[in-house]
Formats: sequence, structure tokens, C-alpha cells
Amino acid sequence: MSDCVFCDIIHGELPASQVYQDETCVAILDIQPINPGHLLVVPKAHAASLAELDPAVGGHLFQVAQRLAVAVRNSGVKCEGVNLWLADGEAAFQDIFHVHLHVIPRYTDDGFDLVLSPAYYAKPERAELDEIAAQIELAL
Ligand SMILES: [Zn+2]
Repeated sequence: MSDCVFCDIIHGELPASQVYQDETCVAILDIQPINPGHLLVVPKAHAASLAELDPAVGGHLFQVAQRLAVAVRNSGVKCEGVNLWLADGEAAFQDIFHVHLHVIPRYTDDGFDLVLSPAYYAKPERAELDEIAAQIELAL
């Protein structure tokens, strides 16, 4: 056993309900689903954050999640829409520090919601957007 629950699952030391696997990743059911059929796409190589994740693996996770989203819709599991969700960092609600991409089946009035601060409704000026864009561009 390691100190990472996903590494333990990948190494067969903890059980999981697996839907898919390939050389790079596995897809398993979340044990605390937002809705039935809530999946996690998890890279086999440990990476705690997006900064540590090989970008090619990140792209692959998204490709697998896209395929799973279609499969969930076609599976008979209640699913009128899908959210892909990746939490990177504690402030973004990352709870397990091994990167994972959520595939969340959604349906009307399923109780899952985004709570936005009042600041969301006051749109920033173009100059502010341009300044932030330049700041991020410099960091690329
Ligand atoms: Zn891990």
C-alpha cells in the first residue's frame, strides 16, 4: 500500500469498479458519485497536479473521457448531459492528489449546482481582461 488511493487501485491493492483501461490510464466508478455512472479517468503514472502531468497524458485523459461521456449517454444510465471536471489544487476542491478527470452524468434537477459569487455578475472591463491575458501569456 502506498499513501495514494489511486496508485493502490492501479496496483490492484484496493478494489474498484473498472470500466476501461489502457497502457496510460484507467476509468473507474467514483465511490461517492454525484450521480450514478460518475466516472474517474486516472493516469497510471502518479502525478499530483497538472503541473506534474505529462501533457500528452493529459490529452489522452481527455480523449478517453470524451469516449466515456458518449458511452454513458448510450448505456441506459440516466444521463441528459455530461460535465467533465478536473480539480487541480485544494482551492479547486482537489481531494486526492493524483490527477483525475471526472466524467459526471447530468440530468435536469439532479441537485448538482455551481454557486457563484456576486462578483461573477459584474463583468470586468476589456482593459482588465487584456491585462490578465498578457500576464498569463507571459507565463506560457
Ligand atoms: Zn498516485
